[in-house]
Amino acid sequence: MTQMNITGRATRIAIIANNKYQSRRVASKLFAAFKDDKDFYLSKKNPDVVISIGGDGMLLSAFHMYKKELDRVRFVGVHTGHLGFYTDYRDFEVDKLIETLRCDKGEMISYPTLKVRVTLEDGRTITSRALNEATIKRIEKTMVADVVINNVKFERFRGDGLSVSTPTGSTAYNKSLGGAILHPTMEALQLTEISSINNRVYRTIGSSMIIPKKDHIEIIPKRQGMYTISVDNKTVHYKNVAKIEYWIGSKKIHFVASPFHTSFWERVKDAFIGDLDS
Ligand code: NAD
Repeated sequence: MTQMNITGRATRIAIIANNKYQSRRVASKLFAAFKDDKDFYLSKKNPDVVISIGGDGMLLSAFHMYKKELDRVRFVGVHTGHLGFYTDYRDFEVDKLIETLRCDKGEMISYPTLKVRVTLEDGRTITSRALNEATIKRIEKTMVADVVINNVKFERFRGDGLSVSTPTGSTAYNKSLGGAILHPTMEALQLTEISSINNRVYRTIGSSMIIPKKDHIEIIPKRQGMYTISVDNKTVHYKNVAKIEYWIGSKKIHFVASPFHTSFWERVKDAFIGDLDS
């Protein structure tokens, strides 16, 4: 049976791997499986499916490589370590992945992404998109910033910084900061503090907050200086940030719907709790 994609042409596959020996081995196996198959076309340009081989960090990099093509691209992750949060297959399950792609009918699972816009004091704006989270920190001095939620001036924050995460990012840095775990089908953002100062003089809410899709968050720094802004695994330093805004983007990330997809709660248990019988 010829397995074409929904446009009727061969499925274009991009294979992206990190430099680990195991990852290169998986990549070679996938190249060998698809290279002479008329139903598939291996190309890093305009792919229909991006296969990321490595870990969650590699999937984040693949997302950033193809973030301008989110409407068209579906991702699938192979983990060359433990099962990850964005990876459905382990390195010894490559045959299962090949089978999934041969039977693929274009089904997908989609999760929200986060839009971030930094406005500098000279009026320039830099817009980006995150899969896990975006953070703003001030390294050399206390960050003082107003937090505005849907035009309500909510609090004046003092501390190291603030993180805004997506539902899929809730198990990453957000969790280390004491944030809640959100099921990735929930379209909401989470605002989490990084070492806030709370005493008789200064006050912040203290707990992380779940913000619905319709709402938008603004952070307005109150002191000039250098700010460190991280979007997933990329970090940039900006001087004189006027404000940073966050909202749920209209574009989602799509994953190949896999019959081997492990439930979210299994992944959370596997990553953070382990085997209950041991
Ligand atoms: P990395 O690839 O080494 O990732 C760091 C760890 O975060 C890995 O164990 C990875 O599996 C895990 N991770 C990534 N996304 C996850 C997710 N959605 N759910 C659960 N775990 C996840 O390092 P990197 O390439 O710099 O990755 C950047 C990510 O690392 C950031 O997006 C941030 O979420 C995370 N991070 C975590 C901390 C922390 O927990 N203290 C600090 C900095 C960055």
